[in-house]
Amino acid sequence: MSLALCPGSFDPITLGHLNIIRRTSQIFDRVVVCIMVNSSKTEPMFTIEERVDMARKVLVRFPNVEVETPTGLLSDYVKKFDSAVIVKGLRAASDFEYEFQMNLINKMLNPQLETMFLTASEKYTFLSSSVVREMASYGADLTGLVPCEIIEDVKEKAKIWRR
Ligand code: ADP
Repeated sequence: MSLALCPGSFDPITLGHLNIIRRTSQIFDRVVVCIMVNSSKTEPMFTIEERVDMARKVLVRFPNVEVETPTGLLSDYVKKFDSAVIVKGLRAASDFEYEFQMNLINKMLNPQLETMFLTASEKYTFLSSSVVREMASYGADLTGLVPCEIIEDVKEKAKIWRR
């Protein structure tokens, strides 16, 4: 059974993430979305538990997709599976540089680990969780940015969240 891991912070999950996860779920038998703590990023908007709840709410329609919260390094987490491939989305050249570096580090830590990239769908190349957080903090309409199931969750959080 082929297995893909889709890692990220998902703070919050966006339509860009959903697009990559949906396409991955059509290629692999099983997909594990890995919601990670990213210490290099600024203070998150949502707790890990809130990010998991939102992702599960959105991804419930995909029977072969599950959501997990690995702690520690992804290169270690992946060892618990017989074989797994990391799948990431690429939006722009800036993503490529970062992802290329991450890929080399992961390879150094775990030489078995392979990473595959799906290019972002044209209509989501501009979209990131940080764009969503920014827009939400100004009370902007989030239609077309995040899945409709979580628009209210993001709006509610934005009222109490300070950037
Ligand atoms: P963000 O950069 O939005 O904070 P994450 O750190 O959660 O996102 O990224 C998780 C994965 O999803 C990464 O591989 C990232 O490149 C990918 N991704 C994020 N947004 C998009 C998008 N709009 N289109 C395609 N891939 C994306």
